[in-house]
Amino acid sequence: MQKVGYFKSIHVKIVLIYVLLIIIAMQIIGLYFVRGLEKTLRENFQESITDRVSLIEYSAREEMIKIRSEEDQTPEQSLYSILAGLNSIDIKEVRVIDARYQILATSDSNNQSIVGQRSMDDLVRKSITAEAAQENISLDRKSDVRIWVLATPIISKGEVIGTLYIESNIENVFGQMNEINRILAGGTAMALVITVILGILIAQTITRPISDMRRQAQAMAKGNFSRKVRVYGSDEIGQLAIAFNHLTNRLQESQSTTEAERRKLASVLTNMTDGVLATDRKGRVILINDPALRLLRIPREMVLNRPIISVLGIDSEHSFEDLIHLKEALNLDLSSNERPFILRANFSVIQKETGFVNGLIAVLHDNTEQEKVDIERREFVANVSHELRTPLTTMSSYLEALADGAWKDEEIAPSFLQVTQTETHRMIRLVNDLLQLSKMDSRDYDLNREIVNFNQFFNRIIDRFELSKSDHVTFVRMLSDKAYYVDIDTDKLTQVIDNIISNAIKYSPDGGNIRFGVVVTDSILKVMISDDGMGIPSENVDRVFDRFYRVDRARARSMGGTGLGLAIAREMIEAHGGRIWAESEEGQGTTIFFTLDILTDEVGEWD
Ligand code: ADP
Repeated sequence: MQKVGYFKSIHVKIVLIYVLLIIIAMQIIGLYFVRGLEKTLRENFQESITDRVSLIEYSAREEMIKIRSEEDQTPEQSLYSILAGLNSIDIKEVRVIDARYQILATSDSNNQSIVGQRSMDDLVRKSITAEAAQENISLDRKSDVRIWVLATPIISKGEVIGTLYIESNIENVFGQMNEINRILAGGTAMALVITVILGILIAQTITRPISDMRRQAQAMAKGNFSRKVRVYGSDEIGQLAIAFNHLTNRLQESQSTTEAERRKLASVLTNMTDGVLATDRKGRVILINDPALRLLRIPREMVLNRPIISVLGIDSEHSFEDLIHLKEALNLDLSSNERPFILRANFSVIQKETGFVNGLIAVLHDNTEQEKVDIERREFVANVSHELRTPLTTMSSYLEALADGAWKDEEIAPSFLQVTQTETHRMIRLVNDLLQLSKMDSRDYDLNREIVNFNQFFNRIIDRFELSKSDHVTFVRMLSDKAYYVDIDTDKLTQVIDNIISNAIKYSPDGGNIRFGVVVTDSILKVMISDDGMGIPSENVDRVFDRFYRVDRARARSMGGTGLGLAIAREMIEAHGGRIWAESEEGQGTTIFFTLDILTDEVGEWD
């Protein structure tokens, strides 16, 4: 938040307002007071002068109209003697001038030379011609004092016979006024100082809570809600402070609610397995959770603010508007050469009540497994149909031939019937295998476990094969006499080993060896059945455990295989908690391995 400059602060403003108010008030008071006082003082002064003037005027008039005898004084002499005693602090000079403007007398003893001269003074002339008193205030340059000049006409029998010219020193009045002004200015200054101090104190009572609230708001903006504003009183500002504290509490509550909601949402978004992306109304990604980043294998900074269609790699087929109107989920194929990877993207629009589209939410789900299962299911149905159709077609054509009369032929008929029987057996085997797999898929079976000495159990199966096998292969047993106890469903394990041994015999060349071995490491029993047969191309080694997978379809089928033997074996071994795999080199031979857990604790008991 911006800091308030000192001169812009309320503090200074309030003090300034107070000071201005005081100055204006003092000025107005001063103006009226000083004006009035000045007027009164001046009038008093002028009145005192005029009172004395009327006395002099009377004497002067008498002297001027007097009829003189020889022994009488000249009018100038008698007038001078009237005026001589008049000079005082106030009256500077008094002159008597006749109607022809001639100066008859002056009270100034140092200025007697002007007696007899004509007065050039304007006021004198005006008073004579206008027959009225004239006055004026002027500044005496020599003494630098203000002079009040008064020229009063001397009227005798209605006729102006001269004028009385008085210069009086009015400076004293102005001096008094200056003194009063000084007192007034001093008072104003004192009032101002007191106002400034009071203003500061009053401003503080207003600004302190306000600055407190300002600091509080700043702290709140930084997320600190623990601070509270001090309440100084119960006036409007006090009420504001209380309201502010209440607001802080409410904000803190809603902030913590929002924060908790945000955390909940963040943890939901982070911990869900599906990826979530949200966009703004222009389709740019504004939010993406970690699972989405993992699924798209893209760093966060490469996603944010980029168009969602390019993030999902669908910019060539779809526009953002398409996604808004899309009703169904979209499958995104992000498979690489190494592994298949299919994402299902569901879109939902963030819309305001007005229908205005505010953004889009995309939920990404790893659909690879589902897709794989779907593909496998489709392949499986196709395979089953194919596997059933082949023997059925064979049987149908042979039965047709028999119906067409071949049944009468004693040489052909038995062999034809033999073929149909073989094909029927194959179909039964196939259907049995399928039933078994289906049971295992639906986990609708129990393992009838029993604890057996594995080597004994293994030897018995090999013995069985040894009795019935043709001579083109030789069995090599690499089994110790040691007893290893395993907890297994013997029927199922017999089926597994039967399948593996039959394959080994089937795919072995004449004179080939089939080796049987058992290795024990870390309480794990590893069983090995290996042959010198045609082998499996390395790229297909792991696929032989897939349902219906056969390296050479025609050949395998001709050998009576269903393509399900190893698939069933894998299901069974995994149900026992073991692992099964093949190692093979084309033309060199194949080894099938599987593991079982050994019961180490029970060895002593059962041995
Ligand atoms: P099948 O009934 O066709 O033998 P399996 O599931 O038992 O079906 O085997 C799948 C395929 O694996 C066989 O068709 C065959 O191509 C290959 N296979 C299995 N065992 C061997 C082996 N010992 N040597 C060579 N190929 C084998």
